[in-house]
Amino acid sequence: MRLSKSIWQTYKEIPADAEIASHQLMIRAGLIHKVGSGLYNYMPFGYRSIRKVEQIIREELDKIDCQEILMTVVTPGELWQESGRWEKMGGEMLKFKDKGERDLCISPTNEETVTDIFRKIVKSYKQLPLTLYQINTKFRDEIRPRFGLMRGREFTMKDAYSFHMDKSSLDKGYQELFDAYCAIFNRIGLEFSAVEADAGAMAEGDAKTHEFQVIANSGEDQIIYCEEENYAANAEKAETIRGGVEFNLQEAAIGIVDTPNKTTIEEVCAFLSLPQQQSLKSLVYYADIEGEDHFILCLLLGDDSLNELKLRNILACQELRPATDSELLKLNLVKGFIGPKGLAADKMRVIYDQAINRDAYYITGANQEDKHFENFCPARDGMIGETADLRMAVEGDYTLSGAHQIQVKRGIEVGHIFQLGDLYTKALGVKVLDQNGKTKAPLMGCYGIGVTRVVAAAIEQGHDENGIIWPKSIAPFHVYFALVGKSEEIKNEAEKIYQELLNAGIEVLFDDRNAGAGFKFKDSDLLGLPLRLVLGERNFKENGQLELIMRSTGEKELVSPEGIATTIQQALDKLEK
Ligand code: ATP
Ligand code: MG
Repeated sequence: MRLSKSIWQTYKEIPADAEIASHQLMIRAGLIHKVGSGLYNYMPFGYRSIRKVEQIIREELDKIDCQEILMTVVTPGELWQESGRWEKMGGEMLKFKDKGERDLCISPTNEETVTDIFRKIVKSYKQLPLTLYQINTKFRDEIRPRFGLMRGREFTMKDAYSFHMDKSSLDKGYQELFDAYCAIFNRIGLEFSAVEADAGAMAEGDAKTHEFQVIANSGEDQIIYCEEENYAANAEKAETIRGGVEFNLQEAAIGIVDTPNKTTIEEVCAFLSLPQQQSLKSLVYYADIEGEDHFILCLLLGDDSLNELKLRNILACQELRPATDSELLKLNLVKGFIGPKGLAADKMRVIYDQAINRDAYYITGANQEDKHFENFCPARDGMIGETADLRMAVEGDYTLSGAHQIQVKRGIEVGHIFQLGDLYTKALGVKVLDQNGKTKAPLMGCYGIGVTRVVAAAIEQGHDENGIIWPKSIAPFHVYFALVGKSEEIKNEAEKIYQELLNAGIEVLFDDRNAGAGFKFKDSDLLGLPLRLVLGERNFKENGQLELIMRSTGEKELVSPEGIATTIQQALDKLEK
C-alpha cells in the first residue's frame, strides 16, 4: 500500500475520553474512528489487524473440524421467548419491533439461533459431536462502554457452539477448544493465562468454565495465581486461605463501648486504635430463594470484603442484593452498628467467613445507635450460624494446600469457554436419537473470543511512549518503508525496492508522501509496524545503503539494496513475535 493513495491520518491529541494506552493509540494511529458511545468504525489499517486475528482463529478452529457459519445479526424475539431469555437478558440486549409489530433483537450472543439450526437438521447421535462457529458483529448496550474496542457496544466476536451426546464427549470437545484457544493466543504473541472461572449456581455440578486473560495492568479483571502450584483463577472464583492475621486471643469480658457516629469499620477501628482485622464486618443481604424472601447476615474480618458470587452460590438464589434501609429497620437492625450478638436465629441466616477465628475477641456492632461490643468472642458469646468461604481473595493469601502464597495480576478477558449442559437444548426441545433408539437433549459447550478486544489487548501489551509495537502476527503490515528524499533518482530507486518487496510477498507500507523525515518517522513509530526501512537520499549517496530499524528494540543496521527482499524476510523471521 502506498501512503500517498491512502486515507490514513494520524493525530497528535489524545482524545479526552481515552483513559488507557490502547484506546489512545488506536485513535491516534488512525486505526479506528469513533461514531458514538461504544461505536467505532474500523479504518483500513485497524481493519487489517482485526482480519488477521480472525484468520488465525479460523485456521486453528478449522484444524479441529469446527465449521464456520454466519448467523443473522437480527434475531426474532420468539427464539428468546422459547429459551426464556427474552426477559432475563436485561438492558444489554437491544430489542425493537418491525413494522408488523414483531419482536426482534440485535444478537448479544447466539445460543438460541445455533440451537435452532441444530434442531432442524440433526436427528441422530451419529451426527455428533459437532461444533459450529461464526465471526460476527454483536451488540450489547453496556452500562459503561469504555476503553475503545475493549468494551464497545458494537464489537466483533467469534462465538462457537459444540453439541455432544454425553459428558465425556463434551469434556473432550471442551479440551480441544481449550487447546485451540492456547494455540490462537500463542500465535498472536499474547502473554495470557487460562483461569478457572465460576460456572454459577445454576450450572450443572461439574460444569467447567475458563476465561482467557491477557495480563495487563489496565485489565478490568483480577487474576489470582500461584506459579508453583500451576493455579490460576479469577478473583471471584479463587479459593484461598487468609494468612498472617493477628487475632486478639486475650480473654476479656464482653462490654459495650461508645462509638459516636462511627459507622464504618475504618472509623470505629481508628477511634478505638485497633487493627481492622480485630473487628467483624456485618453485611446484611436480601435473597430471593425459590420465590421466598430471605435475609442473610454475613460476617467477615473487618478488612476483608465479601465475594458476592460465593454468597450467591452458597444460597443458590435467584436474586441477591444488600438489604435496604427500611428492611434493616424491620429486622430491628441499626445501620452502621449491626452485629451478630443477640440476633434471633429465626429472623435471618448467619454465615461466618471461614477466616474468622471463633475463639478470638472482636469489636462488633451492638445493634444500638452509637454503640459497639468489645471483646465479642463468637464461640463464647453465642455464635449462631454456619461457616463458609465468603471473602474475596487478596494478595498475601495462601493456596488451599497452604504451601505457597498466591499473587494477584490484572487481566483483560479475551476469551471465555463454558460447558452449558442441556440448558438450551432442553428449553428449545431438541431431541436426538441415542444408540438405544431413545431421544435425548444433547449437551452444549460455548466458546467466545472478543476479536476486536484482542487487538486492543495486544496493544496494551505492546506499546511505548512513541506508539504501538505490534506483534508481527497481527501487525497491519510488516514493513514501514520510508522514502526520504526528493530527487528523481532516489524516487526511482524507492519504486524499484517497493516493487521488489511486493513481488516477494512482503507486506509493505510505502511512505511515498511528500513530507519530511521527522514527520514520517513519528508516524512510523506511532503505527508501530515491526520493521522500518528507510531509503534516505544522503545515506544512499554516501554508501549506497538503506537503514533498517526494529520497532521493538530500536536496533539499527545498514542494509544493501541488493537482495533487499531476502534481507527483510530474514529480519522478520528473526523477530520473536
Ligand atoms: P465481560 O465480563 O468483559 O463483560 P462477558 O463475560 O460479558 O465479558 P462473554 O459473554 O463471555 O463476555 O463474551 C465472549 C467474549 O467477548 C469475552 O470474553 C470478551 O472477550 C468479548 N466481549 C464481551 N463483551 C465485550 C464488549 N463489550 N466489547 C468487546 N468485547 C467484548
Ligand atoms: Mg459482559
